[in-house]
Amino acid sequence: MAVISRSDIDFLLHDWLDAGRLAQLPRFAGQDREDWGRYLDLAHAMAEREFLPCWKTSDRQEPWMENGEVRVEPALAAAVRLWLEAGLHLADVAPEEGGMGLPFTVATAGMAGLMAANVAGSAFVMLSCANARLICAFGTPAQVAAFARPQHAGRALGTMCLSEPEAGSSLGDITTRARAAGRDDLGARYRISGAKMWISAGDQDITGQIVHLVLAKVVREDGTLPEGSRGISLFMVPKILPDGSRNDISVTGLNHKMGYRGTPNCAMAFGEREGATGWLVGQEGQGLAQMFQMMNEARINVGLSGAAMACRGHFLSTAYACERRQGRAQGRKGQGRPVPIVAHPDIRRMLLAQRAIAEGALALCLKSAMLADLSHAAQTQAERDSAAEMLALLTPVTKSWPSEQGLAALSMGIQIHGGYGYTRDFDLEQLYRDSRLNPIHEGTTGIQALDLLGRKVLGDGGAAFGRFLALVRREAKGEGFAEEAATLSRTADALEELVARLAGWPAERALGNATGFLEAFGHFVLGWVWLSMARAAARTGPAALAEAKGWTCRYFFAAEMPRIPAMMALLTGAPDLTSAAPETLFAG
Ligand SMILES: Cc1cc2nc3c(=O)[nH]c(=O)nc-3n(C[C@H](O)[C@H](O)[C@H](O)COP(=O)(O)OP(=O)(O)OC[C@H]3O[C@@H](n4cnc5c(N)ncnc54)[C@H](O)[C@@H]3O)c2cc1C
Repeated sequence: MAVISRSDIDFLLHDWLDAGRLAQLPRFAGQDREDWGRYLDLAHAMAEREFLPCWKTSDRQEPWMENGEVRVEPALAAAVRLWLEAGLHLADVAPEEGGMGLPFTVATAGMAGLMAANVAGSAFVMLSCANARLICAFGTPAQVAAFARPQHAGRALGTMCLSEPEAGSSLGDITTRARAAGRDDLGARYRISGAKMWISAGDQDITGQIVHLVLAKVVREDGTLPEGSRGISLFMVPKILPDGSRNDISVTGLNHKMGYRGTPNCAMAFGEREGATGWLVGQEGQGLAQMFQMMNEARINVGLSGAAMACRGHFLSTAYACERRQGRAQGRKGQGRPVPIVAHPDIRRMLLAQRAIAEGALALCLKSAMLADLSHAAQTQAERDSAAEMLALLTPVTKSWPSEQGLAALSMGIQIHGGYGYTRDFDLEQLYRDSRLNPIHEGTTGIQALDLLGRKVLGDGGAAFGRFLALVRREAKGEGFAEEAATLSRTADALEELVARLAGWPAERALGNATGFLEAFGHFVLGWVWLSMARAAARTGPAALAEAKGWTCRYFFAAEMPRIPAMMALLTGAPDLTSAAPETLFAG
């Protein structure tokens, strides 16, 4: 069974997003649907042939340490090496940098297959692609040659080292220190020391070299560290130094996770001896701003993995529901053979709900990827700015909606499997465990909510939000699915009214229930996605696809859109209920 539907991806890329217009842009000139199709064929085939078979084995055999080095389950390590040898990590790297130069949208569609098959395996690749891209964006030519090219060549993998034991959501509080230590061909050199926590692929035996991107603060002359996030700088800290010696970096322990077990997750010490050698990227104090390029890419990828795993969970649930016989149809108690459980309306409800989540989330992630392409490659500055603005607004939703809802879809998958779903003999339980990370890493759902409401919606006085509402209202005016379109328009009005009210409140009060806003806005965005997908499928066919998209769209509007007022209930009805709750309630 395929882990992801190629026909759905083709529909999303070509009929819904009209990604073919990217090939009209100078950056992608000369490419066509066939080129993209060949890459997708290979990526998805490799995901299923090489990564799927070691999905369970690498869950059972977690990474382990031997003589201070981390080992990865051998079949998974071999699969990652094959991906790199085939050059699939170069899909969206520019040709002048040795890559295929495909749009990020197409590369993202390829990654969806890898994530559905083996999310832990995909993490090595995803982190490295984003790491090398950041170095290419902000590094000097010498830094690119030393630290990005080896990743392009498949000889090195990359990490992101942000979190510390005492600083996760609040990166402004990190205490990793950097002391200036001269200059060389690679730029300003520093000695880095400090503890990093939760570092994915912080060590591994897949590649000899690892390029760590480390956030740290440059020590002032009086020995103190600058306060807050403006004091953060970014450093490239390789495992192996240019002279071939080992850098002063060690893994102090592995975290034993609930899922996602194939990827080592490391507690790390930088500079326990003389200080780890690192080179500054860009300017001092620009670290967090630069790192946001990698974090934003990773956020789309986290959402994508939630979507991809929900898609695979939906296929498995559908297959099971069609095979498993239990009970009789309503009104036929005790008569004839048991029916496949798919005959029961409650099972169909869950299958529809799963599909609405899985396909809707995948569509949203591809939409965001397309906005990322347009924000760089569209022909006019106005088009690039407009895409960048919309991407910024949608990124917290793209990260959190598939993460949270994908988990709900997998929980329904376990329910559809009944008792069997709760066992390790079936795949749903591991998909659920693997997915549980998504609402946590790359900024928790609570942090995404603050970003959305505080920065992206209220931060610019509602300007970007207003332009997005105008776009949705234009879609609502289109033909077909009139009832759903009317619901979408009414929801736009309600959200607009709410934002106008919140804009008049002190920030602290407005942000007190930001998660409710994120949930409501997320459902609204998905309503827009579903309406436009159903209309596109009705236009382009085939009939079976039009029926499937149309039915799922109607389900989403009938069952999910009515939940939006409840999601906003605290904001509209009792905004101070949580913040004003007396401390004594939580005295423990
Ligand atoms: C498996 C795994 C892999 C990871 N990989 C990496 C990696 O490769 N590199 C890396 O740097 N990090 C990585 N992380 C770290 C991850 O990004 C952090 O766990 C995450 O950002 C949350 O930080 P924390 O764990 O310190 O939780 P905390 O920041 O302590 O948060 C605890 C809770 O408090 C809430 N909270 C915190 N502050 C606020 C606030 N201001 N307002 C409202 N609520 C708030 C959070 O939403 C959360 O629910 C990984 C984590 C895990 C579990």
